[in-house]
Amino acid sequence: MSILVVGSVFFDSIETLHGKADRALGGAATYFAVAASFFAPVRMVAAVGEDFPCEELDFLSRRGIDLAGLQIRPGLTGSWAGRYHEDMNQRDTLQLDLNVFADFQPQVPASYRDAQYVFLANIDPRLQAMVLDQLAAPGLVGCDTMNHWISGSRGELEQLLGRVDVLVINDEEAQLLSGERNVVRAARRLLAMGPRRVLIKRGEYGVIQFSADSVFAVPAFPLEEVFDPTGAGDSFAGGFMGELARSGDTSEAGLRRAIVYGSVIASFVVEDFGMRRLRALTPELIERRFRQFISLTDVNGN
Ligand code: AMP
Repeated sequence: MSILVVGSVFFDSIETLHGKADRALGGAATYFAVAASFFAPVRMVAAVGEDFPCEELDFLSRRGIDLAGLQIRPGLTGSWAGRYHEDMNQRDTLQLDLNVFADFQPQVPASYRDAQYVFLANIDPRLQAMVLDQLAAPGLVGCDTMNHWISGSRGELEQLLGRVDVLVINDEEAQLLSGERNVVRAARRLLAMGPRRVLIKRGEYGVIQFSADSVFAVPAFPLEEVFDPTGAGDSFAGGFMGELARSGDTSEAGLRRAIVYGSVIASFVVEDFGMRRLRALTPELIERRFRQFISLTDVNGN
């Protein structure tokens, strides 16, 4: 079963304590799509400028990402620059140029309209809703957002949440959207806004999933060194939705397994700058780390 993602495809310039990357391939939809492509075919809805390199289009196509919904428009591809603090859970945005993304109007190609697994990466909730409006009957809709939309477009976002199955956000966003500091109380409030499940990403502390009657938590994979956390959240979502699409299992057990796969992919992404680690990843490495992940919390010591 294939997955549809809408979101940004940008060039990222990143600075961490460990070094720098300049105008590397990035964007939320890119991280999501490349991560999900290890599990299932992906269809992408986004916009880039005419400066977007052919080699990167080839890279995305070779990963099984359908680019029929990628608009190549006159002008420049969007770009973002960020600098991480010593505490890698903290970062400052140094620059954001939306360029051709500024007046992006998502057009879902006819060949994508039967999409069953849909991920609305972090963009204007009006555009996220526009994508849903163009789909026949999506089976599972995941959604991300960010502080900018929570503060500036709360009404539209709350309306959208009624159409979302799984909200995937970080702890800071959960706090802002719910008005609650405590993660459990925040999740309860968010569930009341519509999604059947809320997945709260807590950086190096892992992920917690809440539904009306269950709570499930996984740690982040213990790594000696985190080089660059950019895209960890989006690639977590890619691994999570990818595994759901691959297995077709959206039971509680299926969702829990998908959360571990998402965490596995995110743990690889942070090991190198930008998309470098994802480019070199293989299904065998993913499966090996999945098994290591399971044994991490196995109380029987298997
Ligand atoms: P994450 O580290 O998971 O929060 O995602 C970082 C990615 O989001 C980077 O690759 C950026 O290019 C992209 N990004 C940063 N700001 C925005 C924005 N305002 N809208 C859409 N994407 C963004």
